[in-house]
Amino acid sequence: MTRVGFLGLGIMGKAMAENLIKAGFDVTVWNRNAEKTTELVVLGAKQGTSPKSVAAHCDITFAMVSDPAAALAICQGPEGVAAGIGEGRGYIDMSTVDDSTSQMIADAITNAGGRFLEAPVSGTKKPAEDGTLIILAAGDKTLYDEALPAFDVMGKMSPFLGEVGQGASMKLVVNMMMGGMLSIFSEGMSLGQKAGLDGEKILEVIAAGAIANPMFKGKGAMLLAEDYTVSFPLKHMQKDMRLAVALGDKLNLSLPTAATANEAFKQAKKAGFSDEDIAAVYKTVQ
Ligand code: NAP
Repeated sequence: MTRVGFLGLGIMGKAMAENLIKAGFDVTVWNRNAEKTTELVVLGAKQGTSPKSVAAHCDITFAMVSDPAAALAICQGPEGVAAGIGEGRGYIDMSTVDDSTSQMIADAITNAGGRFLEAPVSGTKKPAEDGTLIILAAGDKTLYDEALPAFDVMGKMSPFLGEVGQGASMKLVVNMMMGGMLSIFSEGMSLGQKAGLDGEKILEVIAAGAIANPMFKGKGAMLLAEDYTVSFPLKHMQKDMRLAVALGDKLNLSLPTAATANEAFKQAKKAGFSDEDIAAVYKTVQ
C-alpha cells in the first residue's frame, strides 16, 4: 500500500485528502493550523508533525496550499518537505503557482534526491468533493505513473503535460480566462438589470446561446441570490490573475483584457471581499 502524505487542508485539500482516505489509501495529513486535521484523523488519517516528517514517512506527499509564498514555505527550511524527502520519494504540489515558483520547488526537491511533479487542478470545491477535478500534471513521469491511482480518486482527467512549468502555465491560462469571463459577466448582469431587464431572464437568454457555460449558470444563480458562500476564495483568483499577467510580462505578451480583469479583482479585495467567493466581484460593479 502506497503511503501518501497530504499538506494543506483548506477548502480543496481537505476534500481531496478525504477522498484518498475513503478510497483506502494510508494517508498522513498536516496543516499549519493543526485544528483542521481533526476531522480527517477521525476518518482514519495519521497526523503528521511537520512537512518534513510527512515527506520522510510517505512514498508520495501531496500539497495544496494558497499561493507561491505558502508553497515555498512548506518546501524550504529545516522543517520543509525538501529536508525530509530523501532518495527517490515523491513530492506533488497541487497548489496554483507560477512556473518560476514551481521550478524553484522542483530544484529543492531534486537536489535533495526526491522526485517532483506539479499538478495544479481545474475545478472548485464541489469537483474536489466529488473527485472530478482536472489535474494538470508536469514534471517527473515516473512519479506521475505512480500517482495515477491517487489522481484517479481525486480527478476525472489527469493529462501529463511535459516539463515542470507546463502544468502551472496551463492552470494560469485557464484561470486567466475564467477571471476575465467572470468580470465581463458581472458587468453584463449589472448593466442589464440597471437597464430594467430581469436577472433570471438574462441568465435564460445566455444559457440558450453560444456563450452558455457552467460557470455563468452557477455564479449567475449565486449573484442573483446575493449568496457569496465561498467555494473559490476571491483572493486566490486575484493571485491567479496577477500571476497570469506577470507571465505575460515575462513573455513580452500584451494582455489588456486580463490586466483590466485583474484590476477588478484587486478592487474587490480592497472592498473587503477577499474571503468571499469569486462571484463577489459582481458587488464591486453594481
Ligand atoms: P484555502 O481554503 O484558502 O486554503 C489554503 C491552505 O493553505 C490552508 O491549508 C492554509 O493553512 C495553507 N497555507 C496558507 N499559507 C500557508 C503558509 N505560509 N504555510 C503553510 N500553509 C499555508 O484555499 P483553497 O481554496 O483550498 O486553495 C488552495 C490552492 O488551490 C490555491 O493555490 C488555489 O488557488 C487553488 N485552487 C483553488 C480552487 C477553489 O475553488 N477553491 C480551485 C482550483 C485551485 P491554514 O489553514 O493554516 O491557514
